[in-house]
Amino acid sequence: MTERYDIVIIGGGPAGLAAAVAAREAGAGSILVLERDTVLGGILNQCIHNGFGLHHFGEELTGPEYAGRFAAQVRGPGIECRCGTMVLAFGAGRTVTAVNDRQGLFTVQAGAIVLAMGCRERPRGALNIPGFRPAGIYSAGTAQRLINIEGKLPGREAVILGSGDIGLIMARRLTWEGCRVHAVAELMPYSGGLKRNIVQCLDDYGIPLLLSHTVVRIEGRERVQSVTVAAVGPDRAPIPGTEKAYPCDTLLLSVGLLPENELSRAAGVDISPVTGGPTVNESLETSLPGVFACGNVLHVHDLVDYVSEEAAAAGRHAAAYVRQGGAGAAGPALPVRAQNGVRYTVPAVIRPAALADKAPLRFRVDNVYRDKCVTVAVDGAPVARLRRRILTPGEMETVPLQRQWFQNAGPQSRVTVSLEEV
Ligand SMILES: Cc1cc2nc3c(=O)[nH]c(=O)nc-3n(C[C@H](O)[C@H](O)[C@H](O)COP(=O)(O)OP(=O)(O)OC[C@H]3O[C@@H](n4cnc5c(N)ncnc54)[C@H](O)[C@@H]3O)c2cc1C
Repeated sequence: MTERYDIVIIGGGPAGLAAAVAAREAGAGSILVLERDTVLGGILNQCIHNGFGLHHFGEELTGPEYAGRFAAQVRGPGIECRCGTMVLAFGAGRTVTAVNDRQGLFTVQAGAIVLAMGCRERPRGALNIPGFRPAGIYSAGTAQRLINIEGKLPGREAVILGSGDIGLIMARRLTWEGCRVHAVAELMPYSGGLKRNIVQCLDDYGIPLLLSHTVVRIEGRERVQSVTVAAVGPDRAPIPGTEKAYPCDTLLLSVGLLPENELSRAAGVDISPVTGGPTVNESLETSLPGVFACGNVLHVHDLVDYVSEEAAAAGRHAAAYVRQGGAGAAGPALPVRAQNGVRYTVPAVIRPAALADKAPLRFRVDNVYRDKCVTVAVDGAPVARLRRRILTPGEMETVPLQRQWFQNAGPQSRVTVSLEEV
């Protein structure tokens, strides 16, 4: 028998939980959260360091504390959470198919769906590092889980490839546990992580950050014995003669996160080739009506506080969609093009009639820029110019949108977001 819920949320991480709480506050009557793990909270359960919640709660929490606050809020009437439940598919008609060991295979009919499946780490296979496939090579997240949840140390001497936030945090974590971290090598000329993590996790422990470097060789048949790092040129090819071998037993890879959108793709949701997440409008609605997306499944965030903020908006929009019986906004839908240093924008479509005042437009840049104006233009005419002293790819940027910027836009109008000279 098919069950019915106003809103079905796929994923019980910070995004799914914040969406559920906000949807209930916005009046949704029945909300179902489906989570494949045995507990709620998502990846934050293994992030035991502090630094979470400064924006959202105004205090510094660990990952499990932050997730726990939201898990406590979903308790109570109106929200049902089913852990240990894997969603296998959803369709354009908003049916969700899932499986667990209590109900077996079951389907749920949703008034609206919120996608909150998070992201996973880019695997080593994508990297083409020569050498054998010895033990001792882990993604940074796997090493984080081993240490923080299972109490196991992955190795005694390590090199880390990739300077995303998880790699930086793991450099410090390994050091605390007595593992020597020789270096963090980063292919790009800038770090992919937050400045605060570079200072607190590398500089404070004397761990070198080797920008414009990559791993060119892994030695060892059974277990990693050494990792060779070399400088790269502007074409990102290794420069002969710059190789340096680090004897070690562990290589951690922190080379990017991929939004988990296998289900979305199979359902026919339009996916951005830049973010790997669904393309959404100002209401965080995907190309499938009544299917919303938020958190890391939409685009990779640097701070979970922004995940919660975005997810709460998705929950409110999903509740409004159900309340209005699926009626869409009147008026034009303006495509947003990212250009001139801006890699992508969320949203990628703006319907001015549905735009809440100060709704955030989030984006990332493709390089390090100093003293630039973030320019929002309609049909080439600037409607907003916001000065930024520094922009880096590791830090997500936000522009609070204003409906009045688009008051003269017609059905064929185009919005652009770009970096311009001050
Ligand atoms: C290893 C790792 C470490 C990180 N460390 C930090 C950090 O220190 N600080 C920080 O701010 N951010 C960190 N992040 C980023 C972090 O992911 C986000 O801040 C935040 O957790 C994203 O929330 P989310 O709900 O979108 O995703 P997640 O927390 O990943 O939650 C997604 C949930 O969806 C569930 N799910 C996925 N597919 C299905 C399915 N088919 N059926 C049912 N359930 C499903 C998953 O089990 C998971 O619980 C880290 C990310 C990773 C991968």
